[in-house]
Amino acid sequence: MAKNKKTLTTAFGIPIPDDQNSLTAGKRGPVLMQDVHLLEKLGHFDRERIPERVVHAKGTGAGGYFEVTADVTKYTKAKFLSEIGKKTEVFARFSTVGGEKGSADAARDPRGFAVKFYTEEGNYDFVGNNTPVFFIRDPLKFSDFIHTQKRHPATNCKDPDMFWDFLSLTPESVHQVTVLFSDRGTPASYRHMNGYSSHTYKWYNEKGESFWVQYHFKTNQGIKNLTLEESIRISGKNPDHATEDLYKAIAHEDFPSWTLEMQIMTEEEGLNYHWDIFDITKVWPHAEVPPIKVGKLVLNRNPVNYFAEVEQAAFCPGNLVPGIAASQDKMLQARLFSYHDTHIHRLGPNYHLLPVNAPKNAPETSYQRDGFMRTGNNGGGGPNYWPNSFGGPEPDPAASEPAFKVSEVAARTPYPHPNDDFQQAGDLYRKVMTDEDRNHLIGNIKDHLKGARKRIQLRQATVFFKADPEYGSRVAEELGLDKKEVERLAGMSQEERAKATA
Ligand code: NDP
Repeated sequence: MAKNKKTLTTAFGIPIPDDQNSLTAGKRGPVLMQDVHLLEKLGHFDRERIPERVVHAKGTGAGGYFEVTADVTKYTKAKFLSEIGKKTEVFARFSTVGGEKGSADAARDPRGFAVKFYTEEGNYDFVGNNTPVFFIRDPLKFSDFIHTQKRHPATNCKDPDMFWDFLSLTPESVHQVTVLFSDRGTPASYRHMNGYSSHTYKWYNEKGESFWVQYHFKTNQGIKNLTLEESIRISGKNPDHATEDLYKAIAHEDFPSWTLEMQIMTEEEGLNYHWDIFDITKVWPHAEVPPIKVGKLVLNRNPVNYFAEVEQAAFCPGNLVPGIAASQDKMLQARLFSYHDTHIHRLGPNYHLLPVNAPKNAPETSYQRDGFMRTGNNGGGGPNYWPNSFGGPEPDPAASEPAFKVSEVAARTPYPHPNDDFQQAGDLYRKVMTDEDRNHLIGNIKDHLKGARKRIQLRQATVFFKADPEYGSRVAEELGLDKKEVERLAGMSQEERAKATA
């Protein structure tokens, strides 16, 4: 055997003499049960696949660091943000949302933008998207919404009727739909898009003062998008184009980076703001709450092994370090549960012990024990309960979030001001988009909505009309719909419109 070559072993380290010929009774078989190497190899192969994520299944990732560039200690006591120049190791994962693990990177879809910060106070997970808003604002609608973006229960194909039926009956979605059907819905690569928290979070400082914040990771590579034609062509030619792009850029030391900008409001300002800051279908206009530069995210390390680091990476918006807390955004509240829950399903109850998920700079000292795939010494012989008088780890009251007020009565109530659902989508169409952006938006919508039945097209065109009459009229015209009918439906209440287009 050549020098430095390793001996092939079983998973248990036992040397294997031959990995080409199964152990058989005679040259032509049958195979013997006592070929434990063959049995072990097949048995492991049979179990190689783990459940793919129900959303964000197709993704890629990279390691790097986050560096603080401004003093934000008056807003947050998070230690990793405590000093200009401080660097924290990170692992980021980017993804599409609706498609399966093998689907095309160029598909029209929001993109996930998740960053795990390995801080000295435990792992802080930022779990955002490349869009500043979302389709719905109540988590009870989430699984229904996702079903409509996936495959039809009978045909097992994507279904424009399902897709647009739900969205047209859920007008709060029109802002995100407008972003999604702009060319930002098909970013040229993961390097050329922004990442937004979308939700409002809370920061609090050493004095216990709280602030509402929104995160914006702005790409330093510049925004670059694909047109409809480009996204269709690339999807066919190389479904992994964005995965490959990120890997190659980092391999060539062309390290992508993002500038973190924060929008920040005092507790009082946020609660009295004219938009509901807990409604994820809304942004905070920049002119009113100017973003401030806070830090820089740099990705400079490719994963050594995709499955180990990217497939097993598990982000949870509930992983918040002292100085950062959740807001009462209903969607966020549900995500605090759902991410952890899905990782337990996909990876098992000890997924936090996997190297990519383990808190590298603040070792776990909890009383959680046992469970499938518990690695390490499982707490050794130390106490496994609290309180104890045997020197076990103790809670630290300094890690408390400042007490906050909750009010009103418990009930299933919608967010107030449903008519606001159209204004920001309309502003995006009217004020932010260029003529070219608007032309692409209308073309992208036509290409997809044309697959839905007429009554659904009509209902959706009406939703666009309510955002901006020109927007809705152009969609109607492209689809050959009766514009007068769209205008008539736009004058109806949501319930009347749903009935009229049933
Ligand atoms: P501004 O003119 O101050 O900001 C508009 C922002 O829109 C830009 O900064 C850019 O965000 C983003 N944008 C530019 N082109 C497009 C596009 N084709 N598709 C989607 N987003 C685009 O206006 P306001 O802050 O008053 O917001 C107006 C509208 O802009 C909002 O209703 C919202 O739809 C959209 N927007 C607002 C954001 C915010 O946080 N205020 C963030 C993103 C979009 P960026 O700088 O992040 O690239």
